[in-house]
Amino acid sequence: MADFDVDLFVIGGGSGGVRAARIAAGYGARVMIAEEYRFGGTCVIRGCVPKKLMVYASHIHRDIEDAAGFGWTIPSATFDWPTFIANKDREIARLEGIYTANVEKSGANIVKARAVFEDPHTLRLSTGETVTAKYVLIATGGAPNHGPAFPGIEHVISSNEVFHLPQLPKRIVIQGGGYIALEFACIFAGFGSDVTVVYRGDNILRGFDEDVRAHVRKEMEKQGITILTGCTVNKIDKHGHDFTAHLSNGSSIAADQVMFAIGRHPNVVNLGLDKAGVNVKHAHGGIAVNEFSQTNVPHIYAVGDVTNHINLTPVAIREGHAFADTVFGKRPVKVDHSNIPTAVFTQPEVGTVGMTEAEARAAFSHVDVYKTDFKPIKATLSGSDSRVLMKLIVDASTDIVVGCHVVGHEAAELIQVLGICVKMKATKSDFDATIAVHPSAAEELVTMRTPTARYVREAAE
Ligand code: FAD
Ligand code: NDP
Repeated sequence: MADFDVDLFVIGGGSGGVRAARIAAGYGARVMIAEEYRFGGTCVIRGCVPKKLMVYASHIHRDIEDAAGFGWTIPSATFDWPTFIANKDREIARLEGIYTANVEKSGANIVKARAVFEDPHTLRLSTGETVTAKYVLIATGGAPNHGPAFPGIEHVISSNEVFHLPQLPKRIVIQGGGYIALEFACIFAGFGSDVTVVYRGDNILRGFDEDVRAHVRKEMEKQGITILTGCTVNKIDKHGHDFTAHLSNGSSIAADQVMFAIGRHPNVVNLGLDKAGVNVKHAHGGIAVNEFSQTNVPHIYAVGDVTNHINLTPVAIREGHAFADTVFGKRPVKVDHSNIPTAVFTQPEVGTVGMTEAEARAAFSHVDVYKTDFKPIKATLSGSDSRVLMKLIVDASTDIVVGCHVVGHEAAELIQVLGICVKMKATKSDFDATIAVHPSAAEELVTMRTPTARYVREAAE
């Protein structure tokens, strides 16, 4: 490998790139990793981590409301946005430092610069230097979509800006019906903002189980969040510090902030992919890769959001690790993308793994559905009208639980463990044989005995 400056050049210091760089360096490879913004990438700097801190901060409001029913009097609690933002930023800077230190400790060489292809083996840095590499890993992630242009679109913020607003908006309009829109709708509602979600389809969380979609919407509406469906924002007027968002249905909403969370696109533009000869998938715009994350150019690989496959941090990390094992550990590893558990950090949370009811009914001839919708014990004294949804989907021919869906407090924690059950192909009988933990909400998962619905598809003539 001596003809090249490095064995591996990683473009992008986010979840996937950092993991790949560290593991490859651990195998003895000479690694260089370039990051144009901040080490840690989307997840650490402007995604999962600051978002989760905001979820915690906003949820405290609900905890305070719940406290009275348990006998607590909390004299007029107040919230200071600048204090929270400063504390959050300090924590993010600390994590960024840890990420950087861990890469350095692994022996990889860090460059704080943008890197683009000059030719298939040469990277040009924004500092002006060029570096040749035997292998290149593209881990450049993605960025928020803005959607089609319309008058006033320059006033719209995305998830990139939402973490640094100078003040808490009293009224916010959020367009989108997916992960980011709904998580931030609940965050701002928790902080006391007046929140309107504008979604183009008929119900939020397209692709999730229908019962989950309906339950989350109801829970969000109970908190006072307005969810407008079947419309889009098509014009924004600014008057001083205020905005008016005009909708496609002819109505308009006054707001202090308008945020769009309408999906993300892979960072492939101006990366010099044409000079490297790397193909981009037409359907999703991500870099096309095989099951080993290899592009059509054999020494160039791509992991994480830039492939626009499953855009989650643990997936990017797993792909980065598998790439390093395969190429530098001489141990070919394919990532298994089936049955990935995921959570939407709405309030209450959504946890889901495996098939929706509709997917299972399309895939199997006999499907049993077990569903419960109940008031958790805590809500009896707190007076909260929040309800929990739990749903198991079973392939009745094999008794295997092929889908688990939870909407409720700590559903993310629960779905991590349910993910193991689904991955291990646990049967409904395994769930039934497990003794309940009492009193808990999760005990419902092992005490649902009778299917709430049973579907049998007649064999085709
Ligand atoms: P990234 O983490 O985006 O890293 C790519 C890096 O490459 C960036 O730092 C970028 O600056 C750098 N870069 C780009 N081009 C160049 C270049 N030419 N030269 C040098 N550097 C470059 N996922 C979850 O699993 N759970 C969550 O709760 C969750 N919450 C999220 C909340 C928000 C608001 C957002 C936006 C995303 C969230 N995600 C979550 C998704 C998660 O953040 C991404 O899936 C993950 O960060 C992808 O990792 P990556 O390594 O592919 O890319
Ligand atoms: P999502 O794909 O989750 O949702 C995008 C939403 O925007 C959908 O409701 C979509 O509608 C709508 N939309 C798309 N285009 C338009 C348009 N032109 N006009 C109006 N609405 C539009 O994307 P997000 O931006 O919320 O998040 C990006 C990704 O980041 C997620 O898919 C997920 O992979 C990851 N993420 C994960 C999180 C987690 O694990 N908790 C949290 C945050 C992000 P429709 O359904 O009709 O297509």
